[in-house]
Amino acid sequence: MPPKQIVPGFYELRVGIANVFLLESPGGLVLFDTGVPGSQDAILQAIHTLGKTPQDLKHIVITHAHPDHIGSLAALQRLTPARTYIHPVDAGVAQRGGDFDPRHDTRPFNPAPGLLVGMLFRMFLRPYRGLEPARIDVELRGGERLPFADDIEVIFAPGHSMGELAFLWKQHGGVLIAGDTCANLPVLDWSLGYENLEVGKRSLKELCHYQFEAAVFGHGGAITRGASDRWRKRWGTLPG
Ligand SMILES: [Zn+2]
Ligand SMILES: [Zn+2]
Repeated sequence: MPPKQIVPGFYELRVGIANVFLLESPGGLVLFDTGVPGSQDAILQAIHTLGKTPQDLKHIVITHAHPDHIGSLAALQRLTPARTYIHPVDAGVAQRGGDFDPRHDTRPFNPAPGLLVGMLFRMFLRPYRGLEPARIDVELRGGERLPFADDIEVIFAPGHSMGELAFLWKQHGGVLIAGDTCANLPVLDWSLGYENLEVGKRSLKELCHYQFEAAVFGHGGAITRGASDRWRKRWGTLPG
């Protein structure tokens, strides 16, 4: 499937169960997340579709270190010159690689509220074995701008993962890269699981303070108009 333009210069590509995003920035081509293991060919194909080569990929920015987001990171590091950015809380997971089993991990991961979500959680959450260790070049904490793009704000948004980052690109009325803070599958709602749901709720409420026309998600389609209004409608009324 070819990459889908969300706004000029910003593209969504679905690889397996997760979305990754390509951004043409003045500092070079940027990839947000890397999909499940084995997604590198589809990502390189998408880069080719944009008229670029693997050498043009300068930055890989990771929202959080779940296997469906870091699965092809090590492979892409071998194939491109890209530097990798992640929050320090999730850096170790990417560097270690190995097995990821959300139900038997030292970091707990629990289903989000709702019966259906609980059912999907049990159906779809499976362990990943033998993830390849990856290199981390730059740690991002939130509150700063991406070092190569001063129009992209880094927002610490823990909960789904305690090292989760969201990104706000301040062009085209604002584009929020929401990672797995929540999902849009098929409507704006919880992600399947949270490391800490209460912390996750606070992050979702925090994000209500930002203005963005579009929002993209690790799972589910993009919202291309009035996204922050919809965000506030869904998450602004959470207690606390
Ligand atoms: Zn996740
Ligand atoms: Zn995910």
